[in-house]
Amino acid sequence: MQSFWNKFKAGYLRFMQGRYGADQLGLAVIWTSLILNLAAAMCGNSAAASLLNLLSTAGWIWALWRLLSRNKQKRYAENQWFLARWATIKTPVMQAVARFKNRKKYVYFTCPQCHMKLRLPRGVGKVTVKCSKCGHSFEKKA
Ligand SMILES: [Zn+2]
Repeated sequence: MQSFWNKFKAGYLRFMQGRYGADQLGLAVIWTSLILNLAAAMCGNSAAASLLNLLSTAGWIWALWRLLSRNKQKRYAENQWFLARWATIKTPVMQAVARFKNRKKYVYFTCPQCHMKLRLPRGVGKVTVKCSKCGHSFEKKA
C-alpha cells in the first residue's frame, strides 16, 4: 500500500511538473462554481438551473485548465489582477456580511448628506443622529 501511494505521489508530481497549480483565483473560481452548483440544485428543473449548471461547469473547466496550465507567467498575472480587484471589493463584501449578521441588533441606514453608512441599535426610539463623517444632524427612528 505504501509503495502504491509513493508511486502515485511520484506520478502526480511528475504530471504537475512545470504546471501552474492552485492559486487564490483558482480557489475563488472553484468556490463560485460550487455555489453555482448549489444554486442550480435549488432552482430545480428550470431554465435558470440549466444556465447555472452551465456556468458552474465552465468554472470547473476553467479552474482545472488554469491548474494544469504551463504558461505560469500568464496565470500569475491573472492571479495578481484578481488579487487587486479582490482587495477593492473585499471591504464592502465583509461589511455586507457584518450587516446581515447584525440585522436583528442594528438598524442600518445612510447619511442623507454624504451617504456614509450608519447604524443604530434597534429599539432606541426616535433619536437625533449626528453623522460621524460630515457632522450632519437628522432625526431617525430605530
Ligand atoms: Zn454624513
